[in-house]
Amino acid sequence: MAGTSLTWLGHAAFRLDTPGGKRIYVDPWLGNPKCPESEQEPERIDLIALTHGHDDHVGETVDLAQRFACPVVALVELRGWLAGQGLPEDMSEAPNKGGTVEKAGVKITLTDANHSSSGFEDDTFVYLGEPAGLVIELEDGFKIYFAGDTNVFGDMQLISRIYEPDVAVLPIGGHFTMGPREAAAALELLGVTRCVASHYGTFPLLIGTPEQLRDLSPDVEVLAPEPGETISL
Ligand SMILES: [Zn+2]
Repeated sequence: MAGTSLTWLGHAAFRLDTPGGKRIYVDPWLGNPKCPESEQEPERIDLIALTHGHDDHVGETVDLAQRFACPVVALVELRGWLAGQGLPEDMSEAPNKGGTVEKAGVKITLTDANHSSSGFEDDTFVYLGEPAGLVIELEDGFKIYFAGDTNVFGDMQLISRIYEPDVAVLPIGGHFTMGPREAAAALELLGVTRCVASHYGTFPLLIGTPEQLRDLSPDVEVLAPEPGETISL
């Protein structure tokens, strides 16, 4: 089997190419200001996974899922809302926290996250369930924890104990999520030695940087690809 590669598409959007040759998009807001033009029109997608309902994470999910006829895994309320936006209804793609679904040959488990989640429709907010993190277990057993938008919370210890992720993708920009100070504590709780920085640099408000996290967590390898850059995990 080939290795696992991860491409940052700016903000919290990632493309994950699995050892089994599957292509997974997480939180595909490809219209974000940092997404390279060459990444805005995917050539194929086997699976989309979402952490929560804010539009900087749902992004172009409906269009992309319709175009590629791929499954979309999201928490039950968010997945139900997406069905109302034109996706096929499919409860097998709509777990809640603690649930694991297998799609496109990988296993996705929803975890807790400390954030909010809602959509905006006809000038009103709509409830889209709670925000979640995702643990994605690939065909060869490699596990990636996408924390989604969250502050640090003590139960990250449980995520470590139960799922033993090999690498964690953490938001570090601050303001809407944790910043480097909180992310450093998250890394201690998760016990991972490698992490990928996310949700920073998109807007002036998101001021946390990978360098700050490296200073605070000298024993952790903090990976910070450029938008459009692919790294091997
Ligand atoms: Zn966000």
